[in-house]
Amino acid sequence: MHEWALAEAVALALSRYAKQAGIGRLKRLVLGLGELQAVDREVFELALGESLKLHGLEVESYELVTEEALFECRACGFSWGLGDLALSDEVREAIHFLPEAAYAYVRCPRCGSPDFSVARGRGIRILGVVH
Ligand SMILES: [Zn+2]
Repeated sequence: MHEWALAEAVALALSRYAKQAGIGRLKRLVLGLGELQAVDREVFELALGESLKLHGLEVESYELVTEEALFECRACGFSWGLGDLALSDEVREAIHFLPEAAYAYVRCPRCGSPDFSVARGRGIRILGVVH
């Protein structure tokens, strides 16, 4: 269950941050969930609650926002999102489920190069903390 691994990673990073800041609770937390990361939100939220508890950290409210994927061409520097591509639903689904599949289907819309990097849209990021 990678939701639990992700939640644990977030809780660990937050507890380190809280320790450094000398606080035991956060008023607000904003997490960015990559569009390419297939995560069951319900499972993730459950896992996050448990992980935070294990780390003795209290979070009053949090928000989970979706971060759109961003690809960057290594050949010409052009960047684009998943929505800019004419992909079938089937392929789109495959890419959401397995980001590595992007390399089989995605080409730079400007120069056609298959050599690109995923600049954003994978994993989970802590976007903001209020305490
Ligand atoms: Zn290009």
